[in-house]
Amino acid sequence: MLRLYNTLTRQEEPFAPLNGNTARMYACGPTVYARAHIGNFRTFVCLDVLRRTLKYVCGHDVREVMNYTDVDDKTIAGAQRAGVPLREYTEPWIKVFREDAAQLGIETPEEMPRATDEDNLRAMGDMIVALDRNGHTYRRDGSTYFKISTLPQYGRLVKIDREAVKDGARVDVDEYSKDDPRDFVLWKASRPGEPTWDYGTGPGRPGWHIECSAMALRLLGGPPIDIHAGGIDLIFPHHENEIAQSEGATNQPFARFWVHVEHLFVESEKMSKSLGNVYTLAEIAARGHRASALRYLLLSSHYRKQLNFTWTGMDQAEEAIGRIVDFRARLDSVTGDGRHPRVQAAVEGARQAFRSALEHDLNTAAALAAVFDLVRDVNAAIDAQEISVSEAGGVRQAMDDFDRVLGVVSLRQAEDAQPPVAVEEIDRLIEERRAARQRRDFAASDRIRHELAERGVLLEDNPGGTRWKKK
Ligand code: AMP
Ligand code: ZN
Repeated sequence: MLRLYNTLTRQEEPFAPLNGNTARMYACGPTVYARAHIGNFRTFVCLDVLRRTLKYVCGHDVREVMNYTDVDDKTIAGAQRAGVPLREYTEPWIKVFREDAAQLGIETPEEMPRATDEDNLRAMGDMIVALDRNGHTYRRDGSTYFKISTLPQYGRLVKIDREAVKDGARVDVDEYSKDDPRDFVLWKASRPGEPTWDYGTGPGRPGWHIECSAMALRLLGGPPIDIHAGGIDLIFPHHENEIAQSEGATNQPFARFWVHVEHLFVESEKMSKSLGNVYTLAEIAARGHRASALRYLLLSSHYRKQLNFTWTGMDQAEEAIGRIVDFRARLDSVTGDGRHPRVQAAVEGARQAFRSALEHDLNTAAALAAVFDLVRDVNAAIDAQEISVSEAGGVRQAMDDFDRVLGVVSLRQAEDAQPPVAVEEIDRLIEERRAARQRRDFAASDRIRHELAERGVLLEDNPGGTRWKKK
């Protein structure tokens, strides 16, 4: 059975869904004001492994909601700087997030709502009305605040000292420190130049925290949900406030398990714009690495440990993937027959070790070790010609099953199948070359052929036209 570390209890606990076989999970998604960096993607890749473990190791159905935070202090500031309406501003960031997530092999959650979708804004308004009815709110200067002194359990997740709570002190910004817990804003009074809505809350816009509480409960069904997840920096104030809002509105526990992913560091430093080490997938590609290698690197360490990104680490990840890819090719070359209990025992042992690693709070490092133990043992069996075709098939099946969870080799195979130049560009160049030949500019035609060949694409002229293939 899967054991998950629960931030709420600071313990590993056995996990099973509350209702039937469906695990209902909410992950705080990206704030769409910039391209997500590799630190953000550490969190999203680890949560993808949680999702895949629930499905493929534990056999649960998963209903996952991951939101786009498309209205908050940062997105509004970005839209104002760009001088465009908020949704127009966030749209391209959502698109690029989808593309990056797909490149990293992240399975698409069942629901990816935007906070500014009307149904969600209405759910936020309804929740604030319920909080009001239950005596947890007050209004000042057109904004509505959550009064934390009205909720005895406030501070349970982050474990703050309730003595530190300053009754009546307020905060309007989305992010603040846990040393200074305050009444936080639920709905901010409308200000010139900001988008504004009114769903029974007076004109204004939602605070960041109410968005997730409302979307989680609207899209996952009544509380408690099974799992709520995000990066470690979200514990306070975001998740503490989400609990306060949901529990204050429904009088029921909000989430059974709280899962938090530790931070990614870059060359031992915190990622920050001033250090110039905020890398996106674009920087990874510019250094000649593919997304599969980043995914591997992000999984090479346990999600609750800080992970240090280095370029050497990326080289090692490439090497590790290469070993697995070579090993799979070698399995295809096996021709022997007969029975070899050692191979079968190696497969069985690796399957057990892999499962138990993931069941032990998603220990991906140990799961990868189980994969490489199998590679080593079976390589030795191939060297000694002590493996049959059907046993090699069993090994391949085990490797496929491991990769359903890790998602690295299938990603590398998809990358390998991609043409080295985008298909639209190849088509355009073929057309340009045809036109060049028509006007008998054979120098230009040869140049196009030559340049494509250098980039790994060969052109073949047939009576029916020109076709291309990978070199
Ligand atoms: P944001 O787009 O800022 O809302 O962040 C999206 C997710 O990335 C959140 O779950 C954050 O906790 C997480 N995150 C931010 N920085 C890092 C980092 N350096 N390492 C891992 N996760 C991070
Ligand atoms: Zn959230």
